Amino acid sequence: MRRHRNVKIVATLGPASETYEQIRALHEAGADVFRLNMSHGKHEEIAEKHKIIRQIEQDLDSPIAILADLQGPKLRVGGFVNPEGEMLEEGAKFRLDMDSAEGTVERATLPHPEIFKALKPGSSLLVNDGKIRLTVDDCGDDFAECTVVAGGVISSRKGVNVPDVVLPLAALSQKDRKDLEFVCQLGVDWLALSFVQRPEDVEEGRALAKGRAAILAKIEKPAAVDSFDEILAVSDGIMVARGDLGVELPVQNVPPIQKQLVRKCRSAAKPVIVATQMLESMIESPMPTRAEVSDVATAIYEGSDAIMLSAESAAGSYPIEAVTTMDNVAKEIEADPTYTEIIEASRKSSGKTVADGIVAAAREIVETTDVKAICCFTQSGTTAALVARERPRAPIVALTPLVGTARRMCLTWGTNCAITDTVDRFKMAVVSAARAARKMGIAEESDQIIVTAGVPFNVEGTTNILRVAPCEERLIFRTDPE
Ligand code: PGA
Ligand code: MN
Repeated sequence: MRRHRNVKIVATLGPASETYEQIRALHEAGADVFRLNMSHGKHEEIAEKHKIIRQIEQDLDSPIAILADLQGPKLRVGGFVNPEGEMLEEGAKFRLDMDSAEGTVERATLPHPEIFKALKPGSSLLVNDGKIRLTVDDCGDDFAECTVVAGGVISSRKGVNVPDVVLPLAALSQKDRKDLEFVCQLGVDWLALSFVQRPEDVEEGRALAKGRAAILAKIEKPAAVDSFDEILAVSDGIMVARGDLGVELPVQNVPPIQKQLVRKCRSAAKPVIVATQMLESMIESPMPTRAEVSDVATAIYEGSDAIMLSAESAAGSYPIEAVTTMDNVAKEIEADPTYTEIIEASRKSSGKTVADGIVAAAREIVETTDVKAICCFTQSGTTAALVARERPRAPIVALTPLVGTARRMCLTWGTNCAITDTVDRFKMAVVSAARAARKMGIAEESDQIIVTAGVPFNVEGTTNILRVAPCEERLIFRTDPE
């Protein structure tokens, strides 16, 4: 489906968006990618949503990306005697240990022995999305005696964050491994790894996925921010996961990190999603706050590939309105001359490969002439990502015979994906490109388009041709030697 904007919208599915009608309405309102959150929902429910998305894709004849988000090694306290939990007052002592007895106002279970070994006196523990802050006074192999620095209510199974320690935890829990295999067998396009700490964590996910899905690292730990360059180098995409990041770090640190991460992802030509609380008030209200609209706009001005809805589309009362709001904000911002100015001024000089040169030339041609589209043949999606990095002024049409590549590219800025027959001659490529551009309403027969491809065809990483051609579907190059 052709969108009249370049930034992509990711919508998380949940109880508020689980039927065919609801999911299709979200897609029609503007959702390009659907996120299945593996922290919630049984496998049958995940399979059902997956089936519905693939049905919509078929009914609308347009690729849709599915992103499965693995829960990751999230730490949780054990149960409490009092189902309401306990109020921890500032200054009080509180103990965490391996005793399986239910929690009280004095202690609770933390069933993660490896954490106790990594703690030191002075380490901070955050409970319940950072509402409660504990400082470790003393600790051993199976306990930590703490002082409550910021009080609040602690209750059963609340999450625990340990921001200032690189945790000796496997990147993928047993549950994650089962979930990963399950979703890879179903057939998802992106796998998001939560609480990544090191590049090895990404490599572990990749080894298990065995090429069945692209790997997206969620940056939500200070350690991941510190090793971001190495993590980016081994990932296919990134999520700025501001929810947990804002718990693990002071909230005011999140905006500068977001800016830096978005910029680095664009330089690397890898898609980046800005996520969490973008339109938080729309969980309960049909209208966003002005601050939320500004937050969505900022992510777009910064050059993000995609913006994401979490509870707004998964569990809120106004999922469609939330998608429509993002769509409207995106169209308005992208029409702002200041946006074009910012995006073009922040373009880095491109790399040194032939493909880099070709995409830069394509961008210049559409900037200075009336050529209507950049159509690129791509096997792995790399050429399309390079074109997107240029942020050209004309629409990008990415053509590929591989359905998985087409789906994955739904996350990339400005990329309109089409599945083509395998082509083996350049003239056929031009015809296919013209057909796709016309079907998408991007160009007409009297227009000219750019076509890039790699010859020989169907080999990764060979882009070596750029042609400006009429947008005609007939084979007209009779005098052409090819
Ligand atoms: P989550 O990740 O919604 O899975 O927690 C995103 C975030 O932490 O921002
Ligand atoms: Mn998170």
